[in-house]
Amino acid sequence: MTRSLVCYNMAMNSIDKLTEYFTKFPSIGPRQAKRFVHFLLTRNSSFLYEFTDLIKQLKKEIRVCESCSKFYSADDDSNLCRICKNPNRDNSLLMIVAKDADLENVERVGNYDGMYFVLGGLLPILEKEPEKRIRIKKLLELIKKRNGDLKEIILALSLNPEGENTLDYLSQQIKTVSTKSPIKITTLGRGLSTGTELEYLDNNTFENALKNRV
Ligand SMILES: [Zn+2]
Repeated sequence: MTRSLVCYNMAMNSIDKLTEYFTKFPSIGPRQAKRFVHFLLTRNSSFLYEFTDLIKQLKKEIRVCESCSKFYSADDDSNLCRICKNPNRDNSLLMIVAKDADLENVERVGNYDGMYFVLGGLLPILEKEPEKRIRIKKLLELIKKRNGDLKEIILALSLNPEGENTLDYLSQQIKTVSTKSPIKITTLGRGLSTGTELEYLDNNTFENALKNRV
Protein backbone atom coordinates (compact mmCIF):
# COMPACT_ATOMS: atom_id res chain seq x y z
CA MET A 1 0.00 0.00 0.00
CA THR A 2 2.72 2.42 1.09
CA ARG A 3 4.87 1.40 -1.81
CA SER A 4 2.27 2.01 -4.50
CA LEU A 5 1.55 5.40 -2.96
CA VAL A 6 5.23 6.31 -3.29
CA CYS A 7 5.22 5.21 -6.92
CA TYR A 8 2.14 7.30 -7.58
CA ASN A 9 3.77 10.36 -6.01
CA MET A 10 6.85 9.87 -8.14
CA ALA A 11 4.70 9.80 -11.27
CA MET A 12 2.99 13.00 -10.08
CA ASN A 13 6.30 14.80 -10.27
CA SER A 14 6.52 15.12 -14.00
CA ILE A 15 3.67 14.02 -16.26
CA ASP A 16 0.79 14.75 -13.91
CA LYS A 17 2.25 17.96 -12.58
CA LEU A 18 2.88 19.32 -16.05
CA THR A 19 -0.60 18.20 -17.11
CA GLU A 20 -1.98 20.18 -14.20
CA TYR A 21 -0.12 23.27 -15.42
CA PHE A 22 -1.51 22.98 -18.92
CA THR A 23 -5.07 22.69 -17.55
CA LYS A 24 -4.60 26.22 -16.18
CA PHE A 25 -4.29 27.53 -19.77
CA PRO A 26 -7.45 29.11 -21.26
CA SER A 27 -9.85 26.58 -22.82
CA ILE A 28 -7.57 23.59 -22.13
CA GLY A 29 -9.15 20.54 -20.48
CA PRO A 30 -7.31 17.67 -18.75
CA ARG A 31 -7.30 15.42 -21.84
CA GLN A 32 -5.84 18.08 -24.08
CA ALA A 33 -3.35 19.00 -21.36
CA LYS A 34 -2.13 15.42 -21.19
CA ARG A 35 -1.80 15.34 -24.98
CA PHE A 36 0.55 18.36 -24.74
CA VAL A 37 2.70 16.54 -22.20
CA HIS A 38 2.84 13.42 -24.35
CA PHE A 39 3.80 15.58 -27.32
CA LEU A 40 6.66 17.11 -25.31
CA LEU A 41 7.81 13.61 -24.36
CA THR A 42 8.27 12.74 -28.04
CA ARG A 43 10.43 15.85 -28.78
CA ASN A 44 14.22 15.84 -28.66
CA SER A 45 16.28 17.61 -26.02
CA SER A 46 17.07 20.72 -28.07
CA PHE A 47 13.35 21.35 -28.64
CA LEU A 48 12.69 21.08 -24.92
CA TYR A 49 15.63 23.33 -23.97
CA GLU A 50 14.57 26.03 -26.40
CA PHE A 51 10.98 25.78 -25.22
CA THR A 52 11.88 26.16 -21.54
CA ASP A 53 14.36 28.98 -22.33
CA LEU A 54 11.65 30.92 -24.15
CA ILE A 55 9.30 30.57 -21.20
CA LYS A 56 12.04 31.84 -18.88
CA GLN A 57 12.70 34.82 -21.19
CA LEU A 58 9.04 35.86 -21.29
CA LYS A 59 9.06 37.85 -18.05
CA LYS A 60 12.44 39.40 -18.82
CA GLU A 61 11.73 40.60 -22.36
CA ILE A 62 8.04 41.33 -22.37
CA ARG A 63 6.69 44.47 -20.75
CA VAL A 64 3.24 45.90 -20.19
CA CYS A 65 2.68 49.19 -22.04
CA GLU A 66 2.27 52.07 -19.65
CA SER A 67 -0.53 53.59 -21.70
CA CYS A 68 -2.63 50.80 -23.26
CA SER A 69 -1.54 47.84 -21.03
CA LYS A 70 -0.71 45.68 -24.04
CA PHE A 71 2.17 43.21 -23.73
CA TYR A 72 5.09 44.18 -25.95
CA SER A 73 8.68 43.21 -26.60
CA ALA A 74 10.86 46.13 -25.53
CA ASP A 75 13.56 47.15 -27.99
CA ASP A 76 14.49 50.41 -26.22
CA ASP A 77 13.96 52.10 -22.86
CA SER A 78 10.52 53.40 -23.77
CA ASN A 79 7.61 52.38 -21.56
CA LEU A 80 5.25 52.53 -24.50
CA CYS A 81 4.39 49.93 -27.12
CA ARG A 82 4.82 50.50 -30.85
CA ILE A 83 1.18 51.57 -31.29
CA CYS A 84 1.18 54.13 -28.46
CA LYS A 85 4.50 55.54 -29.73
CA ASN A 86 3.24 55.99 -33.29
CA PRO A 87 2.53 59.72 -33.91
CA ASN A 88 0.35 58.91 -36.94
CA ARG A 89 -2.32 57.17 -34.88
CA ASP A 90 -5.49 59.10 -34.14
CA ASN A 91 -5.47 59.79 -30.41
CA SER A 92 -8.99 61.17 -30.36
CA LEU A 93 -10.22 57.55 -30.67
CA LEU A 94 -9.80 54.95 -27.93
CA MET A 95 -10.85 51.34 -28.44
CA ILE A 96 -11.32 49.25 -25.32
CA VAL A 97 -10.75 45.50 -25.72
CA ALA A 98 -10.80 42.68 -23.18
CA LYS A 99 -7.47 41.03 -24.03
CA ASP A 100 -4.30 41.25 -26.12
CA ALA A 101 -5.56 38.70 -28.65
CA ASP A 102 -8.54 40.97 -29.46
CA LEU A 103 -6.24 43.94 -30.05
CA GLU A 104 -4.03 41.85 -32.30
CA ASN A 105 -7.04 40.75 -34.32
CA VAL A 106 -8.20 44.34 -34.83
CA GLU A 107 -4.66 45.29 -35.91
CA ARG A 108 -4.55 42.35 -38.31
CA VAL A 109 -7.75 43.54 -40.00
CA GLY A 110 -5.97 46.90 -40.28
CA ASN A 111 -8.73 49.48 -40.81
CA TYR A 112 -8.58 51.07 -37.37
CA ASP A 113 -5.98 53.78 -36.72
CA GLY A 114 -6.93 54.95 -33.22
CA MET A 115 -5.49 54.01 -29.85
CA TYR A 116 -6.33 51.07 -27.56
CA PHE A 117 -6.75 50.04 -23.98
CA VAL A 118 -6.57 46.39 -22.86
CA LEU A 119 -8.88 45.76 -19.91
CA GLY A 120 -7.34 42.44 -18.94
CA GLY A 121 -10.65 40.54 -18.79
CA LEU A 122 -14.42 40.85 -18.53
CA LEU A 123 -16.73 41.21 -15.56
CA PRO A 124 -18.91 38.27 -14.57
CA ILE A 125 -22.50 39.19 -13.65
CA LEU A 126 -22.76 40.39 -10.01
CA GLU A 127 -19.00 40.79 -9.68
CA LYS A 128 -18.39 42.41 -6.27
CA GLU A 129 -14.88 43.74 -6.92
CA PRO A 130 -14.63 44.90 -10.52
CA GLU A 131 -11.36 46.75 -9.84
CA LYS A 132 -9.68 43.41 -9.09
CA ARG A 133 -10.91 41.80 -12.32
CA ILE A 134 -10.21 44.53 -14.87
CA ARG A 135 -7.88 47.55 -15.12
CA ILE A 136 -10.67 50.02 -14.45
CA LYS A 137 -8.59 52.40 -12.28
CA LYS A 138 -5.88 52.71 -14.91
CA LEU A 139 -8.49 53.24 -17.63
CA LEU A 140 -10.28 56.01 -15.74
CA GLU A 141 -6.97 57.77 -15.00
CA LEU A 142 -6.09 57.64 -18.68
CA ILE A 143 -9.47 59.07 -19.69
CA LYS A 144 -9.19 61.85 -17.09
CA LYS A 145 -5.72 62.72 -18.33
CA ARG A 146 -6.85 62.83 -21.95
CA ASN A 147 -10.26 64.36 -21.43
CA GLY A 148 -10.48 67.13 -23.97
CA ASP A 149 -8.46 65.37 -26.71
CA LEU A 150 -10.50 62.20 -26.55
CA LYS A 151 -13.60 62.36 -28.75
CA GLU A 152 -14.83 58.76 -28.87
CA ILE A 153 -14.44 55.56 -26.88
CA ILE A 154 -15.29 52.36 -28.74
CA LEU A 155 -16.25 49.47 -26.47
CA ALA A 156 -15.15 46.47 -28.53
CA LEU A 157 -16.22 43.64 -26.24
CA SER A 158 -17.56 40.19 -27.04
CA LEU A 159 -21.33 39.89 -27.17
CA ASN A 160 -21.88 37.42 -24.34
CA PRO A 161 -23.36 38.02 -20.85
CA GLU A 162 -19.95 38.96 -19.39
CA GLY A 163 -19.25 41.31 -22.29
CA GLU A 164 -22.65 43.01 -21.92
CA ASN A 165 -22.18 43.34 -18.17
CA THR A 166 -18.72 44.90 -18.65
CA LEU A 167 -20.12 47.24 -21.26
CA ASP A 168 -22.79 48.56 -18.87
CA TYR A 169 -20.26 48.98 -16.08
CA LEU A 170 -17.73 50.79 -18.29
CA SER A 171 -20.36 53.14 -19.75
CA GLN A 172 -21.38 54.24 -16.24
CA GLN A 173 -17.80 54.62 -15.02
CA ILE A 174 -16.60 56.57 -18.08
CA LYS A 175 -19.41 59.08 -17.66
CA THR A 176 -18.21 59.87 -14.13
CA VAL A 177 -14.77 61.00 -15.35
CA SER A 178 -15.51 62.57 -18.74
CA THR A 179 -16.85 65.74 -17.19
CA LYS A 180 -14.64 68.36 -18.90
CA SER A 181 -15.91 67.57 -22.37
CA PRO A 182 -18.37 64.78 -23.10
CA ILE A 183 -16.93 61.70 -24.84
CA LYS A 184 -19.04 59.74 -27.29
CA ILE A 185 -19.26 56.10 -26.22
CA THR A 186 -19.95 53.62 -29.01
CA THR A 187 -20.11 49.83 -29.29
CA LEU A 188 -19.50 47.33 -32.06
CA GLY A 189 -23.03 46.03 -31.44
CA ARG A 190 -24.48 46.11 -34.92
CA GLY A 191 -23.02 43.58 -37.34
CA LEU A 192 -21.97 41.13 -34.67
CA SER A 193 -24.10 38.17 -33.71
CA THR A 194 -24.70 37.19 -30.09
CA GLY A 195 -21.89 35.18 -28.55
CA THR A 196 -19.31 36.47 -31.00
CA GLU A 197 -15.73 36.38 -29.77
CA LEU A 198 -13.76 39.37 -30.99
CA GLU A 199 -10.61 37.29 -31.11
CA TYR A 200 -12.03 35.10 -33.90
CA LEU A 201 -13.78 37.71 -36.02
CA ASP A 202 -13.13 37.61 -39.74
CA ASN A 203 -12.09 40.78 -41.58
CA ASN A 204 -15.44 41.57 -43.24
CA THR A 205 -17.51 41.13 -40.10
CA PHE A 206 -15.15 43.33 -38.14
CA GLU A 207 -14.98 46.04 -40.80
CA ASN A 208 -18.79 46.17 -40.89
CA ALA A 209 -19.08 46.19 -37.12
CA LEU A 210 -16.59 49.08 -36.90
CA LYS A 211 -18.27 51.04 -39.68
CA ASN A 212 -21.74 50.53 -38.18
CA ARG A 213 -20.83 51.15 -34.56
CA VAL A 214 -23.58 52.68 -32.45
ZN1 LIG B 1 0.54 50.80 -25.80
